[in-house]
Amino acid sequence: MSEIERESMPVDVIFVGGGPACLAGALHLMGLIEKHNETAPEDEQFEEPMIGLIEKGSEIGSHAISGAVLDPRALDELCPDWKEDDSFPLERYVEREAMLALTSATGGFQLPFMPAEFHDEGKPIVSIAKFQKWLADKAEEMGVMIFPGFAGVDLLYDEEGKVAGVRTGDKGVGPDGEPKDNFEPGMDLESPVTIIGEGPRGHLARILMDKYGLQDGRNQMAYETGCKEVLEFPEGTITEGFVYLTSLYPLQDAFGSGPFGGGFIYSLGGDRACIGLLASTDAADPGLDMQYELQKLKLHPKIKDILGEGKVVKYGAKTVTVGGWGCMPKLYAPGALIVGDSASFLNAARIKGIHLSMKSGMLAAETAFAAMVSGDNSDEAMSKFKAAIDASWIRVEMEPTKNFHAGFHNSGMIGGSMKFLWSKVFGAGSIQGVSPDHEGMKKLGGAALPVQPAAGKYGDIEYDGSYVVDKLTDVFLSGTKHDEHQPCHLKITDPEVCATKCVEEYGNPCERFCPAQVYNMVDNEEAGRKELQVDFSNCVHCKTCDIRDPYQIIQWVPPEGGDGPEYGIL
Ligand code: SF4
Repeated sequence: MSEIERESMPVDVIFVGGGPACLAGALHLMGLIEKHNETAPEDEQFEEPMIGLIEKGSEIGSHAISGAVLDPRALDELCPDWKEDDSFPLERYVEREAMLALTSATGGFQLPFMPAEFHDEGKPIVSIAKFQKWLADKAEEMGVMIFPGFAGVDLLYDEEGKVAGVRTGDKGVGPDGEPKDNFEPGMDLESPVTIIGEGPRGHLARILMDKYGLQDGRNQMAYETGCKEVLEFPEGTITEGFVYLTSLYPLQDAFGSGPFGGGFIYSLGGDRACIGLLASTDAADPGLDMQYELQKLKLHPKIKDILGEGKVVKYGAKTVTVGGWGCMPKLYAPGALIVGDSASFLNAARIKGIHLSMKSGMLAAETAFAAMVSGDNSDEAMSKFKAAIDASWIRVEMEPTKNFHAGFHNSGMIGGSMKFLWSKVFGAGSIQGVSPDHEGMKKLGGAALPVQPAAGKYGDIEYDGSYVVDKLTDVFLSGTKHDEHQPCHLKITDPEVCATKCVEEYGNPCERFCPAQVYNMVDNEEAGRKELQVDFSNCVHCKTCDIRDPYQIIQWVPPEGGDGPEYGIL
């Protein structure tokens, strides 16, 4: 496409991403500005601060599937009155919690205690989508300009090489890259400070990290892929706030051998509950299919006892960053900061990250505010963000578990558990090295995986279309949609590998690890072989392919803004 004329809009600070990190950051920043204006001399006040926030989903919350137990620590600081606020989207408080050890497809027992890390009694259960919407409404009331349906596709730089804002994606581009009749060029949001919180494996975060070497000499970020379903029950079935965590089956055997991960069940408001299953994206088995494993989990008798009367009404999938403190990149560059899941703010030992994401966004807001006052957005000025993180309760919570992921990644379930217990008594020591997740998959026929992946797997459970659903039904329930007349947002840099090397080495694992059946090997009669077909309109933006592909030839880039899952604000 020839050079396009774009509109520019100067702002004071731009947040990229409509998740808890950026929303909390934007809200906190407006509070800081308001406070400053109360006492500052008139000529030092910010009369009409321009604080912007862009979100690729069609509305705030549309890319967040409901159900999470919230540690309210950051919320208490941001909105101390949230408990008295009638508009707060509380589903329930946790009244009952239990950990289930599922030792086989039918066996298992409830642990007599809840491990301290997972203790959640009294904490609020929220719908993440509703919670984000609530934060967004508050931020808008305070004057934050929120632009849903706008994906950040590139960073802008000034003449000194500092980040100078964000370019949003063009709309109305055909599959050949040429403008269609409805073409609308993206906008340049010019800002001295750009705060990136696009969630795990963020597109702009990666551009920033590559340009400024923010991961040089550090562990790469580590991830788990999770599939989640919301179930509805007959009226009056769900009467209390409960949380179950599950371990072992279907991912591991009774001795913990198998991919690292586990499940969770939360009750929501009304007669709804959600269930999810997460597994590490470094899993050795190329045949691991998380949507399928989730169905197996629901069929376990102990889970059926809890959820068996339910009907699946919503499905989603996403990755979460689990490397924590030990896999954190450098958090800043000149003119830019990275927050939330994009920068590994999640404590995998507690399976909790929303409070850490929010706090990281709030501390980033403080650094951005200082830059607004001083006019200094240099690397040194941005480094105050890291200093603030180090001085905060984020460090106190995250540093002691810095090797949690490394322990399990390097030593398996039993070894990892022993190392974690050791670290609780004797300290975590220095950060341990971990290999990138995509190197974890074992080739077929190798010593660690001497079987055909997924042989017969899809035949061994019966789908009823209500409680046990197949992948395409789940994709339908995710509400995902993409205009099919646009460039494919999953860039396969070497499709020949898929039709040749990958068939033999890994058996085309993308057909299984994608939780939305985007990748399908289909017959090409002329070529006499199967070739990869990418049904990108199914994509739920989980980023698993970008992370887990063993050849690293899949790159996820943002599709047209507003496309993607439509989980609904429920
Ligand atoms: Fe996730 Fe990639 Fe599949 Fe999209 S194509 S749903 S990002 S694995």
